[in-house]
Amino acid sequence: MRNVSIPGTHGRVRPLTLLGGPVLHAPCEEVTDFGPELAALVDDLFATMYAAQGVGLAANQVGEPLRVFVYDCPDDEDVRHLGHVVNPRLVAADGVVIRGPEGCLSLPGLEAGTERYDHAVVEGFTVAGEPVTVHGTGFFARCLQHECDHLEGRVYIDHLTGWRKRRVLRQAARAPWGR
Ligand SMILES: [Zn+2]
Repeated sequence: MRNVSIPGTHGRVRPLTLLGGPVLHAPCEEVTDFGPELAALVDDLFATMYAAQGVGLAANQVGEPLRVFVYDCPDDEDVRHLGHVVNPRLVAADGVVIRGPEGCLSLPGLEAGTERYDHAVVEGFTVAGEPVTVHGTGFFARCLQHECDHLEGRVYIDHLTGWRKRRVLRQAARAPWGR
């Protein structure tokens, strides 16, 4: 029998903020209160991410303008990375730049080749206020950069240019959620 709590089991699945929602396109605020409300938000983020079958989710994607994200994401070696970061800082993003398929729960069903560094390091805190450092390579490095971007009010299509950007904007406008 396991005695480890599974993230999100006490959380509530929240509606996702979609592309164009103001909270998605503005920088989030630093967390200053490491109390039970923060722990409940992290649980909600896990529950919502799992319900939507995502690999990462930032707080402003459920309408909370706070600097928190969660992840449950494989890297290119299929190693699973599971956790959360409060007040994250992307302290390193380096190595080769790889253009790979990237999607986002705030733009459901869409995907576009997006350039990201192959290595990333994020420093921040746990819900208990303990310092934490997260290293990622490959697809997990992509996830860390994507989630840190969210907290600055950026989405992946902000990195696109030319026909890739035009195509994804056209698809977003045509999507059932796009209007
Ligand atoms: Zn996203």
